Amino acid sequence: MELYQQTIEELHKALTEKKIKPKDILDSVYQRVDAVDHKVKAYLLVTKELAYTMAATAEDRLMKNENVTELTGIPIGLKDNMCLEGVPTTCAAKMLAGYRPPYTATVLKKLTAAGAVFTGKLNMDEYAFGSSTENSSFFPTHNPWDLERVPGGSSGGSAAAVSADMCIASLGSDTGGSIKQPASLCSVTGFKPTYGRVSRYGLIAFASSLDQIGPMTKTVRDNAIMLKHIAGADENDSTSAAINIPNYLKDIKTDVKGLRIGLPEEYFIDGIQKEVKEAMQAAIEVYKKLGAQIVKVNLLHTDYAVDVYYVVAPAEASSNLARFDGVQYGLRDTAAQNMIDMYKRSRQQGFGKETKRRIMLGTYVLSSGYYEAYYKKAQKVRALIKQDFDEAFKKVDILLTPTSPTTSFKIGEKSGDPLTMYLSDIFTIAPNLAGLPGMSIPCGFDEKNLPIGMQLLAKPFGEQDIFNAANAFQYATDWHTRRPKI
Ligand code: GLN
Repeated sequence: MELYQQTIEELHKALTEKKIKPKDILDSVYQRVDAVDHKVKAYLLVTKELAYTMAATAEDRLMKNENVTELTGIPIGLKDNMCLEGVPTTCAAKMLAGYRPPYTATVLKKLTAAGAVFTGKLNMDEYAFGSSTENSSFFPTHNPWDLERVPGGSSGGSAAAVSADMCIASLGSDTGGSIKQPASLCSVTGFKPTYGRVSRYGLIAFASSLDQIGPMTKTVRDNAIMLKHIAGADENDSTSAAINIPNYLKDIKTDVKGLRIGLPEEYFIDGIQKEVKEAMQAAIEVYKKLGAQIVKVNLLHTDYAVDVYYVVAPAEASSNLARFDGVQYGLRDTAAQNMIDMYKRSRQQGFGKETKRRIMLGTYVLSSGYYEAYYKKAQKVRALIKQDFDEAFKKVDILLTPTSPTTSFKIGEKSGDPLTMYLSDIFTIAPNLAGLPGMSIPCGFDEKNLPIGMQLLAKPFGEQDIFNAANAFQYATDWHTRRPKI
């Protein structure tokens, strides 16, 4: 087996037994990138020089046996909306072309402290607006399982890179489903932690009351390793929570006897692809065999979730994007005659179509006269959605749903129809509005051999419950071990 095909756990073992060096893994990963990324197009920027420097530091640590963690020497890819000092960070937006942040995101500081190696910056939808990575202002990323199809989004590059073995693990970010949905479409394990579990400092903001960074990996166990290293309170992010971080991997269980798994009736509706339904049924059977108890629950306000999200998220986005005015960052129009004209022209040229749509939606629902009718009302319904989950978690430990109603779609198939595109997050949006932790894990394939994922949800800060349930499933099945043939 090639080094690029292995998991964090396997590589860590080989590294500490001195069978391999960090440089060997990096060579192998970059060979893979050279061999397949011209087809997949997951990377916006390959940071070879930086990576080899980080690998040398890791090797030093391993040699001296000092500060060695599970991530020391492990090549990790980064979604391009996390700031890394001096390294181009674009958010896949033309507006940020040439931008080199003067500081580093907390998560990336933490990974550096753990000895990880950064392979490069991964493609995404511009500013994370989208579900297919087609909104990248540079180029679309292709699904490694079928190159004519989308990898999902907005963390499509992060999902495709792990799926195609072009990094050992990656970071994505999730606002309405941007880790979970691409994880599902590319057959990787993707985790959106509880809102507040991971610092958002240095993550280019989309919707600040929803955004979370999370790991995308080949296995649940690798995911547990990654989350432990990036989680925790941060004085630079007042919404990060000072709540004890369990040693997820050490405490992980494979036994789900007696675990109460809830199936929300509202998530098993008409319109879900037949094979997705069947895969859910099969997964439920696996859990029953393992001794879990299956309980039907209701989440009565589910129908409103997408509507609420498309008020709240664009409202926050339009305010967050006000800072891109041609003055402080990236692109500036130089033909303008005065300042206001310069703002207008820079924004006109720098933003893509979907970004403009979000800004228009957001400023509209926040404008005086409409604020009460839209934004305030949406916040009220958001509270009801959260209450539904609170009630459900009185009866069950975990909720199980499909991650996405369909498997991957063709590039171009939905890009002309934003509303249909918005519906691909129908199952991930409600739990995000409630701030819940949620994971997507591989659970099957459709007739075209396209991956299917299931979503596991827990109560706030109940990440360990999800790791346990997901790990039990990966012990009993081998969906997560299958790799695309590219
Ligand atoms: N697809 C959703 C949107 O376009 C979610 C994106 C995200 O989570 N960043 O808003």
